[in-house]
Amino acid sequence: MPENASKNFIEEIVEENIASGLIKTPITRFPPEPNGYLHIGHAKAICLDFGIAKEYGGYCNLRMDDTNPTKEDVEYVDSIQEDVRWLGWEWKNLYYASDYYQQIYDWAIHLIREGKAFVCDLSADEIRWHRGTLTEPGKESPYRNRSAEENLDLFERMNKGEFAEGARVLRAKIDMAHPNLNLRDPVIYRIVHTPHHRTGNTWHVYPMYDFAHGQSDAIEGITHSLCTLEFEDHRPLYNWFIENLPVPHKPRQIEFARLNITYTVMSKRKLLQLVKDKHVSGWDDPRMPTICGLRRRGYTPESVREFVAKAGLSKRPQTVDLALLDFCLRQDLEEKATRRMVVLDPLKVVITNFPEETELYEGQNLPSDPARGSRMVPLTREIYIEREDFMENPPKKFFRLYPGGEVRLRYACYITCTEVIKDAEGNITELRATFDPLSRGATTPDNRKVKGTIHWVSATENTPLEVRLYDPLFSKENPDDVEEGKSFLDNLNPESLKVVTAYGENDLAHAQPGERFQFERKGYFCVDKDSRPGAVVINRTTTLRDVWGKRFGDKAE
Ligand code: ATP
Ligand code: MG
Repeated sequence: MPENASKNFIEEIVEENIASGLIKTPITRFPPEPNGYLHIGHAKAICLDFGIAKEYGGYCNLRMDDTNPTKEDVEYVDSIQEDVRWLGWEWKNLYYASDYYQQIYDWAIHLIREGKAFVCDLSADEIRWHRGTLTEPGKESPYRNRSAEENLDLFERMNKGEFAEGARVLRAKIDMAHPNLNLRDPVIYRIVHTPHHRTGNTWHVYPMYDFAHGQSDAIEGITHSLCTLEFEDHRPLYNWFIENLPVPHKPRQIEFARLNITYTVMSKRKLLQLVKDKHVSGWDDPRMPTICGLRRRGYTPESVREFVAKAGLSKRPQTVDLALLDFCLRQDLEEKATRRMVVLDPLKVVITNFPEETELYEGQNLPSDPARGSRMVPLTREIYIEREDFMENPPKKFFRLYPGGEVRLRYACYITCTEVIKDAEGNITELRATFDPLSRGATTPDNRKVKGTIHWVSATENTPLEVRLYDPLFSKENPDDVEEGKSFLDNLNPESLKVVTAYGENDLAHAQPGERFQFERKGYFCVDKDSRPGAVVINRTTTLRDVWGKRFGDKAE
């Protein structure tokens, strides 16, 4: 097998560049715009930017791409750092594109002096009309041939705040007939009077993305500037600026496909709308695809990184099933998460021949690892079992509890159902059962076969828990697939959150926010930040099985 067979296309490029002596090690950057919280799509870019640098002995900067003062905020700057660290990465330098405003401004002056930029008084609409189409060339601006002196004077006055927003822009003078529309005299500076979250009122002109990104890369000595495919058409412009400015380094832009996820939206604008309109409790609502939402829900950094790795890297747009993340979480936690018994939908069982005193049974905290120790679980005369673990008229192969049937209570003993008690409407309210005193310890001297084992909790010695059960936030695989006049909000799933009162083992009363468990037979759970002593709140991260159909070869417990 050739050495590169398992390398992705970016690794191949980096290896070529190292082999040819063009670079020693790759230097990359992750450049979020601090106008929202990071989401799982960003996790892909983060793992790629930081991962490539680490793999080849280089480093990665975290750069706040803060060139749009109207939408940016320190709250976002802080959350971005927290999320990148949580994912397990550490940047070499923390930079802000706003740190480069003076240099970028000086480069704009350089272009003006060289006759390669001009101040244009056309309105945004007029500029659009002049731009032409893919089949027709554009029309030159009447301001295109202003003298360098006049341009310098106007640009400086733009920056002093003499003109209204939108009154004038600075444009690069390239080619109005260029087949790539991005090179038809693109706008490179605009007037903004909103104070910037870091530079305040120092500036009244702000560089456009295209006139800031590559320049920032050049200043930082970035070797490979990895970005998503929508910037592919901007690459010629990126290169034009690099070639026409006296930059200290020549970075290279490489595009890869965005990660899209089923049953959710990822654009920050839409996520912000969900928060503002209170469709969710906040950016960290456990149903949100944000990193802080995933963290609160109970996903581990390992599972998110593994998910991103499994999703792979390509040049073609990709949509990945959210169920793959659950699969990665189960793989990660199977051998890690502490086991506890919790009944989510309780049905009381009275064990009529059980003694008055509580009996204690030992349960391993993690059966595959005795070093994790054990706890004693109290068994009493009245217990709760899961309602779905009982059927009055069971089909064949139902191995849980039914009238006359015998089942094993996990860790404890065998019980047989003797009576079904119902209310006036015929709903089952309680069961009676007897236990076999010889089955204490969950085996019998005659090694009697009992097929089913169910979890249970004492009805008198337990901790009540508020458990939040989640389903996808949207009921459509692609929430943006809407009819005319409707919006993605019309695809919100009204059943995405269900809250139940569950009963769990006593020591769960002391579980701390962020602590993760496997509740036996029920799934992976994580204590929520809303949790208080005496009022424990727990999120279901995921079930033990993929309930939408078995995919990815996942096996049930
Ligand atoms: P949005 O459109 O949601 O606002 P954005 O692309 O504007 O997202 P940025 O903060 O500019 O968000 O993104 C920072 C980096 O993360 C960029 O390099 C961007 O290409 C990358 N990125 C953003 N979304 C995704 C995604 N879904 N998959 C992969 N990379 C992404
Ligand atoms: Mg962006």
